[in-house]
Amino acid sequence: MSESNDRADGARADGRKILLQCTPAEIEQLVAAAGGKKFQAKSVRRWVLERGVDDFNKMSDLSKDVAKKLSESCVAVENRVRESRKAPDGTVKLLLELRDGSTIETVWMHGGSDVSGGGTVCISTQVGCAMACKFCASGMNGVVRNLDTYEILEQLSRARQVAPFGRIVVMGIGEPALNLSNVLAALDEVTSPDGLNISARKITISTIGIPEKMKGFLKTEKPYSLAISLHAPNDALRRELIPTAGKVTIRELLMFANHYFKQTGREVTFEYVLLRKVNDRMAQERELAGVLRGARACVNLIPYNPIPGSPYGRPDEETCREFREVLRSCGVVATIRWSKGVEADAACGQLRIARLEAPAAKKI
Ligand code: SAH
Repeated sequence: MSESNDRADGARADGRKILLQCTPAEIEQLVAAAGGKKFQAKSVRRWVLERGVDDFNKMSDLSKDVAKKLSESCVAVENRVRESRKAPDGTVKLLLELRDGSTIETVWMHGGSDVSGGGTVCISTQVGCAMACKFCASGMNGVVRNLDTYEILEQLSRARQVAPFGRIVVMGIGEPALNLSNVLAALDEVTSPDGLNISARKITISTIGIPEKMKGFLKTEKPYSLAISLHAPNDALRRELIPTAGKVTIRELLMFANHYFKQTGREVTFEYVLLRKVNDRMAQERELAGVLRGARACVNLIPYNPIPGSPYGRPDEETCREFREVLRSCGVVATIRWSKGVEADAACGQLRIARLEAPAAKKI
């Protein structure tokens, strides 16, 4: 990790505050101390969070003097865009550098626009990931730390610089269930009328499926959509692909899904990454159908987005479609998520790992 510019008490070395780390009252104080009016605090926050403006001088309702003073006492957005990659389909992947030099990824994608316009943003929740799924780039070097709430929010500010969005998927680097309080605090801001005012129904959290954490999530009664990474039709293969799944069984995940449905009226989506000749065979589609038949859940098949050096491959389109059709013919609701932004290294954690392993590429 590169050098930190923090003090031991966690503040920035230059003493400046970070805007999205401040409470509304603290922002009011900062604005007042800079000679502005208290009511401008809300608008300053909106410039950053809703419009992705990272420079006080560009906030047209602030006088030059107030903007200058605010820049001296506060940082509008702490992270730095180290790299931005656009795929031909319009997907934009951002590699963001945090204050301690570690990096995360945020992706803006077309789609999910419905009424709200714009696209969908995929956010990270941790630096690295401890889940170590065999096929995934995010966990290749383990986990470094949890993201702070403001670090989760700042990703949205950067994504807004790309284009507007109306949906959020918590499917980037990291396991959200292991940083649940910060994730939920950030999503509170996202859904708040004083924040981004995005409906909770347009937010999906994807988890590896840690039963006690999911029960904790259920207790919060937050109406976010829930996706659980299944990836195999039986426990033996699931544990091979997700070595950290430990004692958690598919049966337990299904029981949770049913319980979740009873309590919320919403179905869990099971994610199933299709890996060529590993979990895409005919016998496995039948086994999966048998497991899921009758469950209050649906399946989202994700054709593998291959990463360099990985032994896993992506099945051809026909195999993917056939897998879906067999599930459907057995009464299981199944869809395929065709990957977006393959050309932008859009698989989870892929760009970050590429840059970690190629330090020469850092100075972009
Ligand atoms: N830790 C969370 C979020 C992970 S990312 C979880 O496990 O659910 C969201 C989904 O993308 C997960 O199902 C994950 O297994 C899957 N995924 C990771 N790498 C992938 C790749 N290279 N191609 C396709 N899907 C991938």
